[in-house]
Amino acid sequence: MPEPAAKVPEPAAEVFSAPPSRCDLAIVGGGILGLAVARELTRRHPHSSVCVLEREVDLATHQTGHNSGVIHAGVYYAPGSLKARLCVEGARELYAYCAARGIRHEACGKLIVATERSELGRLEELERRGHANGVPGLRRVDGAGITELEPHARGIAALHSPATGIVDFAAVARAYAQDALQAGARIVTGCGVHAVHPGARTLRLEHARGATEVGHALFCAGAWSDRLAVAAGAPADPRIVPFRGAYLRLVDERRHLVRALIYPVPDPALPFLGVHLTRHIGGEVLIGPTALPVLARDAYALGRVQRADALDTLRWPGTWRMLARWWRPGVDELRHAASRAAFARAAARYVPALRAEDVRPAFAGVRAQALARDGRLVDDFAFSATERALHVRNAPSPAATSSLAIARYVADRAEEAFGLSP
Ligand SMILES: Cc1cc2nc3c(=O)[nH]c(=O)nc-3n(C[C@H](O)[C@H](O)[C@H](O)COP(=O)(O)OP(=O)(O)OC[C@H]3O[C@@H](n4cnc5c(N)ncnc54)[C@H](O)[C@@H]3O)c2cc1C
Repeated sequence: MPEPAAKVPEPAAEVFSAPPSRCDLAIVGGGILGLAVARELTRRHPHSSVCVLEREVDLATHQTGHNSGVIHAGVYYAPGSLKARLCVEGARELYAYCAARGIRHEACGKLIVATERSELGRLEELERRGHANGVPGLRRVDGAGITELEPHARGIAALHSPATGIVDFAAVARAYAQDALQAGARIVTGCGVHAVHPGARTLRLEHARGATEVGHALFCAGAWSDRLAVAAGAPADPRIVPFRGAYLRLVDERRHLVRALIYPVPDPALPFLGVHLTRHIGGEVLIGPTALPVLARDAYALGRVQRADALDTLRWPGTWRMLARWWRPGVDELRHAASRAAFARAAARYVPALRAEDVRPAFAGVRAQALARDGRLVDDFAFSATERALHVRNAPSPAATSSLAIARYVADRAEEAFGLSP
């Protein structure tokens, strides 16, 4: 059963306060990562002044507020990768944090279902990875075991991950903001940073409300992270290419078809593809997301084009190399994005009772995926450094799950790079 609902207080009025003219540590971006980093730094450095500069009028309005809401357990990721380590640690810490802060969450478990024999090798590899990564409670089930856990699902074998769960990441981000505010941080919204000027002893951040001289900066700008990194002097590689992820939802009378989370066996090279059936913490059942390359980093509406984003994507050699390599799954994704019936049919492979008339359109999110010049989708979390600054360059799923662990990792790197003593 879900944990009892408890109210996370909204961030206080300080969120709207004016930006400081100077501060020791500035975080650019008020999504879950920027706020987790602000929380971590204010705890470690109570005598330093910390500010968060967020472009939008609210916090957590981009990826953090438009996602599947799944606390991933760490099954998929290559052993030894940052994703594997920070996801397993981050999920454990996130459960403890939500319990302590009264944030509604549920370890509802997930089934990764194989429907054909040809998928069994990949399922085995996932099991191996999950065990190597230290995912708790992971076990193999057969067809009967699948229907015991999910009475309407069908498959020949599955992996059950009981430690996978659900939460509202925007609520988690607001709680991090509260913690940072209480520890003395200043959080300023409506304050988009548009230029970065390294000086001898400070970094000058020019923004929508003037300028702030900062000792050091940490950039956690999601889909816009490459632009700010380049503005601060970093190489252009990798570039962010936005992928729109649209969801359908099951109509209320058919929600009983899905108890928890039902996922396909992914292609290890494109782990985010495939139709996922996900129960949301509010009770809704979502189907999706799709993964369609788009021409705006805020393409919440299909067909939205931002000239600068379109030019950045189309002029990047990696885009054409990626399309040449992955055109076949791209055609499938296009079909799912274009046809609700085709998307519902793909989900019915796992839940045969599901029909096109059971679904309605829901919302869409936009993934900030880093794409290398050679056409490689950057798989692991990636960070880089410039003069007096650190940049989060690739933080796709499971970065929300991993947020507390990523914040620790970033704070450790910042202390080392900036010579900050705890
Ligand atoms: C469709 C979808 C499904 C997902 N599902 C899951 C899931 O189930 N589980 C999971 O763990 N992860 C999931 N993720 C990934 C997760 O949502 C992200 O990894 C996470 O939210 C990244 O947080 P962030 O703070 O880096 O980015 P964001 O939340 O995008 O925040 C970046 C912030 O930076 C601000 N910003 C940008 N430019 C500037 C500027 N110039 N000046 C000031 N501010 C700026 C933006 O306005 C924004 O608020 C999903 C993502 C998507 C899109």
